Amino acid sequence: MTDLNESVVGRIYDRTDWGAPATPGGAQRDPARVVGMTVHHTTGNTLGNDDTVRWWHNIWRWHTGRNPSSPLTWSDIGYAYGIDRFGNLFVGRGRYRQLAHARGYNTTWLGVAYLGSGIQGHVTIDAKQTFVGLRNWLRDGGGMDNMSRLNGHRDIGSTACPGDHLYQWVSDGMPTPDTVGGGLMLPRQGDTGEVVEFWQRTLVRAGYPIDYSDPYDGNYGPATEAAVTKARQSFSSNVTPSVGRITPWTAMRLLERLGGEGAEGPRGPRGPKGDRGPKGERGPAGTDGKDADLTDYAIPIVQRDP
Ligand SMILES: [Zn+2]
Repeated sequence: MTDLNESVVGRIYDRTDWGAPATPGGAQRDPARVVGMTVHHTTGNTLGNDDTVRWWHNIWRWHTGRNPSSPLTWSDIGYAYGIDRFGNLFVGRGRYRQLAHARGYNTTWLGVAYLGSGIQGHVTIDAKQTFVGLRNWLRDGGGMDNMSRLNGHRDIGSTACPGDHLYQWVSDGMPTPDTVGGGLMLPRQGDTGEVVEFWQRTLVRAGYPIDYSDPYDGNYGPATEAAVTKARQSFSSNVTPSVGRITPWTAMRLLERLGGEGAEGPRGPRGPKGDRGPKGERGPAGTDGKDADLTDYAIPIVQRDP
């Protein structure tokens, strides 16, 4: 069994976390019927929009017609899940609902969207790690044992989605990024030992002091997490102020800042894993059943709720 929380780089946002009803819309479907994952991008300014929670919420408003400018009236957001550039995972319709992501593929293919443009330089390592983690979890404990195939939206519809870079990565079988994280040990809060000490020294040398009497004590406590958070925020994110771990993206940028020093990081085994999935996926079936086709509108991401 794979633990989704272990597989996702950032946080998991269940439906109520991003402002949707706990019960998703859409007709019920058996996850075992899903044969593959379809990757989408939402388009939009990936690098200039840190409020990805509102971004995802606004896509939901667009798809469901809650945004008065939208011509759509779907029963819920079209995708099963969304992933942002920080590696956060948003639960959309989840595993148990027919989707609205590509006409003819809404029952047997799982649509997962990248929040942003799938072009070179806009798809982060953290996002890719979370895509891979989600896929592994769905197949190993998530009830989608038959989900063996991958495609991009353009394979099954007339669209440029999910962008050239993301499409190529999906077509290559979602290889795990090897720039960093290929065996590199990335500790999390509560971890102890020389791996933690290595990163404590790396943080300080990269300009992120640890506010503690013995900064290299090998204990990943609140002071170390505060330094990690500062680094993470300076590199990109303010939407997830603390995730309690060093993410691959942060690790890569820290090592870059040292000019490659220490690139041979410590390695070691991971501990045992549990089996926790996202909440908010269950409930009575919805009433639509329309075979809607997602056209990846450029969602008006600057729009604010009234
Ligand atoms: Zn698409």
